[in-house]
Amino acid sequence: MRELRWAGLAAAAAAMAIMFFFALSSQEPAWRSSSKESKPIQTADKALQTKPAIHNEAKREDLKRDIVRQFQHEAPKQWGEYVPGVLTHLVSDKKVVALTFDACGGTNGNGYDRKLIDYLISQRIPATLFINSRWIDANLKTFLELAKNPLFEIENHGTEHRPLSINGKSAYGIPGTKNAGEVIDEVWVNSQKIKQLTGRTPKYFRSGTAYYDEVAVKIVKELGEQPVNFNVLGDAGATFSKNQIVKQFSKAGPNSIIIFHMNHPEKQTADGVMAGVPRLLKEGYQFVRLEDYPLQ
Ligand SMILES: [Zn+2]
Repeated sequence: MRELRWAGLAAAAAAMAIMFFFALSSQEPAWRSSSKESKPIQTADKALQTKPAIHNEAKREDLKRDIVRQFQHEAPKQWGEYVPGVLTHLVSDKKVVALTFDACGGTNGNGYDRKLIDYLISQRIPATLFINSRWIDANLKTFLELAKNPLFEIENHGTEHRPLSINGKSAYGIPGTKNAGEVIDEVWVNSQKIKQLTGRTPKYFRSGTAYYDEVAVKIVKELGEQPVNFNVLGDAGATFSKNQIVKQFSKAGPNSIIIFHMNHPEKQTADGVMAGVPRLLKEGYQFVRLEDYPLQ
């Protein structure tokens, strides 16, 4: 009986000592870390750790130097639209197709295909828009409206619309970026612009002309974005006729990513899309944005 009482007293004293220790200690005990008050702090810390530090100028320069150092001696062997690491289709077991529209910007590239976009809005067709910096500057009001529309996902189509090379290769006569530093600027400067204007950091990057070498692909990933191309050529730089575009729609299958352009209102992309979309709907396809499914 006595032993039991002593044991009870000892346990009470130990409990008090532990409580006293926690009261004095500035550190939160582990069992309190799941409390409501501490959760937001943890989330914020985690976000800081995982997000690429591209919106802090000094950190950005540090990271750029590190990445240049890391990749400067790598010699790329491939050059094209389908180099390893470039994502080209959705991953799902459903009949889904992603329509992607590039806005390339620059001389002859700053147009806005209002008919096309108004059609997508009127039919509630979701789409992913790859937008270049120069196009944003030339169409700021429109860009902000598109970014606000939940049908559309805004992604990164580069700063100067250059093929993404670490040694200055060109595509379609357009000179590519000359080194790792230029690759970083081509991705980051537009990424930052989009983030500042929309509050959302792009997840996906498509280079000007859709050409890459495999080292540049690795750099895009290092910067926190995924390079994305397509497996169906929708309008070949807005050069296809309406009938050619309709034919391209028939090449789409489950999980296809189709590339079109939204910056050539004078061409036939809108007419082709307006004829092709109802056909796929009739075949039971659903249109989705890139971020709705994993990509491969
Ligand atoms: Zn483009």
